[in-house]
Amino acid sequence: MDENTIKTLYDNWEDILIKHKEDFELPYATFDAFIKALKIVSFEDGILTLSSPENEAAVNLINKKYLRNLQLTVCEYTGRIINVKIISEINKQNTEDVIPPVPEKKSFVPVHNEDSFRLNPNYTFEKFIVGPNNNLAHTVAVAVAEAPASKYNPLLLYGGVGLGKTHLMQAIAHHIMKTQPEKKVLYVTSETFTNELIDYLRTGKKGHNFRNKYRKIDVLLIDDIQFIIGKDQTQEEFFHTFNDLYQYGKQIVLTSDKPPKDMTLPERLQSRFSEGMICDIQIPSYETKRAILDQKIEDRYLHNIPEDVRDYIANNIKSSIRELEGSINTLQAYADLNKSEITLEVAKTALKDLVSQEHNKIISPELIIDIVAEHYNITVSDLLSKKKSTDYSFPRQVSMYLCRNMTQETSKRVGEALGGRDHSTILHGAKQISNELLTNDNLKNTIEILMKKIDPSLNNV
Ligand code: ADP
Ligand code: MG
Repeated sequence: MDENTIKTLYDNWEDILIKHKEDFELPYATFDAFIKALKIVSFEDGILTLSSPENEAAVNLINKKYLRNLQLTVCEYTGRIINVKIISEINKQNTEDVIPPVPEKKSFVPVHNEDSFRLNPNYTFEKFIVGPNNNLAHTVAVAVAEAPASKYNPLLLYGGVGLGKTHLMQAIAHHIMKTQPEKKVLYVTSETFTNELIDYLRTGKKGHNFRNKYRKIDVLLIDDIQFIIGKDQTQEEFFHTFNDLYQYGKQIVLTSDKPPKDMTLPERLQSRFSEGMICDIQIPSYETKRAILDQKIEDRYLHNIPEDVRDYIANNIKSSIRELEGSINTLQAYADLNKSEITLEVAKTALKDLVSQEHNKIISPELIIDIVAEHYNITVSDLLSKKKSTDYSFPRQVSMYLCRNMTQETSKRVGEALGGRDHSTILHGAKQISNELLTNDNLKNTIEILMKKIDPSLNNV
């Protein structure tokens, strides 16, 4: 069993019990009588055994009344599925012998960051190419990562789509988690933030999980904050979270696709943002694009892309680094499929659509599929595959829905783009999503955000 989880449990046991008390609103008397004295005996095979000083009868009662909820707290805190068992200390001998040694500090990787598994391992400072377009943002990001909450707080990074905001923000998270593992770092997209708030409001504020979760953080990073604009309740809750963290000297990092002055935000949020550091990331110059391109080619071991082709890409893909990467993928796929060498001629043919899209952004099924796959953190080929797991089939259906609603393409054409599916499959998939949208507010929020990612002009309506 994972050492980090054991370490988290041991180190934070008192916190966990207090969280349990708060989440389930246990009266002091109950907490003092039954919960407070619970101690960890062992953690093996996913079973956390706790001991209580009470006798067997009392322990039976504790098991019956409090075990399930306690288990929920433990799972939530560690982000793992853990079974909890409580035994009576009175029947137990030699407790000391059973307690496993606490792992040493050096092996400790924080797992408080429930969402940290969503960090892209490649989005580090080491892999971030610095150029005149992002120099300032990079310098400030490094300063924040080295000394959170000292100089630049809050930090807002803004810039157009695909220019490296998420990469830089996650680099801050990686760096802090590595060098200051005791800090609780939380990276979330504003979509997750909003969806968690929706859940919290729907469950009638029974568990104070939402608030607790966000207010216990040392470094909070919220990506794509522009998506909360106009959502009154989310803005309100965000404002309070922001204030609480700020007041207690915690670091806040935000990204947005536009500067605060162009966001229609309430006055007080606007002014909060302007108290901190605001850095933009611009479109990279040819040289920076070339350096990034060379690095990405290196990372993928694609040394067969000649100089003139690299030049051609860096000169013709202008607006986003994401598309720079997309062009490598497209080119490679084209060359593999046609069993051809990658030459300038081949590149011009293979990248025809991408290059012309640069001038005239059209919403195509391919664009939708790319954005949906990225959003759900799966590959395009998994999205197009026949794999049935909902990890893939759900984003696939979302793509069907979006293609039907955001393009003029026939469902036959959408079916072709979606891995050769027939038109009835597309209609059925799209229908599933529209039905779900009638009752599922989280999905509604996600679809709205996806539509804005696909067509950024929707951000202004
Ligand atoms: P944004 O969040 O601004 O839309 P991302 O951070 O997702 O953009 O970046 C898009 C892609 O471009 C990512 O794969 C990222 O690694 C890459 N990228 C952006 N800027 C750089 C850079 N300066 N150096 C290396 N890769 C970069
Ligand atoms: Mg981003």
